[in-house]
Amino acid sequence: MSRERIIGGEPVDREEDLTQLSLRPKVLAEYIGQKELRGKLKVTLDAARQRGETAEHILFYGPPGLGKTTLAHIIANEMGSKLFATAGPALQRTGDLMGILTNLKEGDILFIDEIHRLSPVIEEFMYPAMEDFKVDFVVDKGAFAKVINVPLKRFTLIGATTRAGMLSSPLRDRFGLYYHIDFYPPEDLAQIIIRSAGLLETEIDQEAALRIAQCSRGTPRIANRLLRRVRDYAAVKADGVIGEEIAVRALDAEGVDALGLDNLDRKLLQVIIEYYKGGPVGIEALGATLNEEVDTLVDMVEPYLLKIGFIQRTRRGRMASPEAVKHLGIEPSADNQQSLF
Ligand code: ADP
Repeated sequence: MSRERIIGGEPVDREEDLTQLSLRPKVLAEYIGQKELRGKLKVTLDAARQRGETAEHILFYGPPGLGKTTLAHIIANEMGSKLFATAGPALQRTGDLMGILTNLKEGDILFIDEIHRLSPVIEEFMYPAMEDFKVDFVVDKGAFAKVINVPLKRFTLIGATTRAGMLSSPLRDRFGLYYHIDFYPPEDLAQIIIRSAGLLETEIDQEAALRIAQCSRGTPRIANRLLRRVRDYAAVKADGVIGEEIAVRALDAEGVDALGLDNLDRKLLQVIIEYYKGGPVGIEALGATLNEEVDTLVDMVEPYLLKIGFIQRTRRGRMASPEAVKHLGIEPSADNQQSLF
């Protein structure tokens, strides 16, 4: 179900993947927003280039669709190096990783998405690779087992994670740089939408871009996805030009509300408010009631609701805020909000 969420941060299908790919900024100057992060990253890359060195290992963390993969590709472009991309769950055996690592040339970049999902064995295998650019590879078994020490070229590891808290501290400590990517304000998203519309050869005005931005849950991937939907709607129902009225009608037709919340967000809030009387309720119980995976709720639904203050995470579980009750148009009552007031 979550895969089909129009406002989910994850890519939906191959066609969308291709569009998102074509909209991806290639250099740091094209990357919109996240000013502080961009500034720091620029200094790091300039310094590494000046010294003729490879960049330090970098960890990006933040919710899906905020530009972590995009930044990894930008770093590779800016450093003039090659990027090899893989993901935590794809690396099952040390042999797979060995193959990748030994093929890396000086200055190459290894990008590991969902790095919090590396198995403990693979993770441990990474430590000497990250620290000393070597791997200890065990060949044969039992009495014949031998450890072969294989030197590697100096490479940069870029890790991306939606859950910094799930990374073990030995792994986290081996990253020299650590950047949090936060949700984007509507003004930055509007700029991203205008840039993307230009690349898609679609006319859009500032007000329409801002409308779409406000419904994008602070997430560039969602902004680009909504832009595509609105563009299709404008092509069929109007002359193809996206003005504010068309944008509002198209977003309405998609069932996206004024804050960009979709059915799953609303259902989650509704369950906390009505079923669990405002909370607190544990995430596992919410997952069971909603018939959704806990990971989906934690990675894709909750962060934005926390960001806009619609839920709070307490030690006893999640609670809905009075603002959430108001937004859903639920009549506050002693029964559904006993713990709030
Ligand atoms: P993540 O790896 O965090 O899930 P991606 O890097 O795949 O996210 O970004 C999703 C899409 O959003 C990209 O295709 C890109 O077009 C767009 N995007 C992300 N960040 C920015 C940005 N700062 N400026 C412009 N476009 C962006």
